Amino acid sequence: MNLKSQTLPELTATLKELGQPAFRGKQVYTWLHKGVRSYDEMSNLPKGLRDTLAEKYPIHAPEVVRKQESKKDGTIKYLWKLADGNCVETVLMRYHYGNTVCISTEVGCRMGCAFCASTIGGLVRKLEPYEMLDEVLFTQVDSGLPISHIVLMGIGEPLDNFDNVMRFLELVNSEEGMNISMRHISLSTCGLVPKIDELAAKKLQISLAISLHGPNDEIRDKIMPVNKAYPIAVLLEACRRYYAATNRRIHFEYAMIDGVNDSVANAKELLKRLKGLPAHVNLIPLNHVEESPLKPSSKAAVARFQKILEEGGVTATVRRTLGGDIDASCGQLRRKYSKEHDHH
Ligand code: SAH
Repeated sequence: MNLKSQTLPELTATLKELGQPAFRGKQVYTWLHKGVRSYDEMSNLPKGLRDTLAEKYPIHAPEVVRKQESKKDGTIKYLWKLADGNCVETVLMRYHYGNTVCISTEVGCRMGCAFCASTIGGLVRKLEPYEMLDEVLFTQVDSGLPISHIVLMGIGEPLDNFDNVMRFLELVNSEEGMNISMRHISLSTCGLVPKIDELAAKKLQISLAISLHGPNDEIRDKIMPVNKAYPIAVLLEACRRYYAATNRRIHFEYAMIDGVNDSVANAKELLKRLKGLPAHVNLIPLNHVEESPLKPSSKAAVARFQKILEEGGVTATVRRTLGGDIDASCGQLRRKYSKEHDHH
């Protein structure tokens, strides 16, 4: 396993096997979690140990292949090249409560949602725990901005990469590492029900977001293939169990698509569905994806939808779109880059 994917006790054991005392584990862990690119930066380590580690456990660090900064709101989007040449995106957003990174969890995605750019080429592979950590670390190092919040809403389905994502959370939350509070982390899923139950059993203090995008099976079946495996009633039952286990209010994401899911009837049906479940609905005007015929709802339709939810007692916010001038909705930059570099 890559050293940066190891927890502090694991790393300490690895170094012990190399004949090193326990405090070395903490030193190396601390350095790795600062985002160093070479063992030679670990100035409090003996030269011999640095050389041994460099030979046995080369440090992987992603390279910036594209960096785009929004002139409007300071959002920065990174396209990183990983050690094996695959690319993923990370977006840094500046909110009043702190700098937030939106990270990818997989290279591509196999969920097949009709409106999403990340899934067009399918799943290439899952990210290793350290590769997700690197997205946070190197965004912080490159931008010079301290990161306090993380959302797992980039490329990929986090619950389809469950074990690696859980390990990543443990790493990024560790006191000797970035020490980012679980309460400052949101995980978004399209609705893999068995994994939602597995997550509930862990009773983490993270926020769970569900990509709902429709109030019934008819609409969800059309735009989200996952609904065929886990229909909306089954999904919402899992959400109720999740709430019972964690006492954490659930966030529902709802991308507003013109003529597909944005009618008055759709809003009323959604209200009924969410009855009795402590929920917050995030209305997201659809980001147009070149390859897709789907279009965003009008401002008026979004406002009407929000009003119906609010009047029905469900809090609903319209997500401010950041970085609209830099293809900041995840999947789009990677897509563009691979098209330009694909000569077939
Ligand atoms: N796979 C996870 C997390 C990644 S997507 C999930 O499905 O939740 C993060 C959010 O962006 C999801 O709610 C997803 O449905 C939404 N999304 C994807 N493409 C979009 C688009 N073109 N416009 C608006 N939201 C989109």
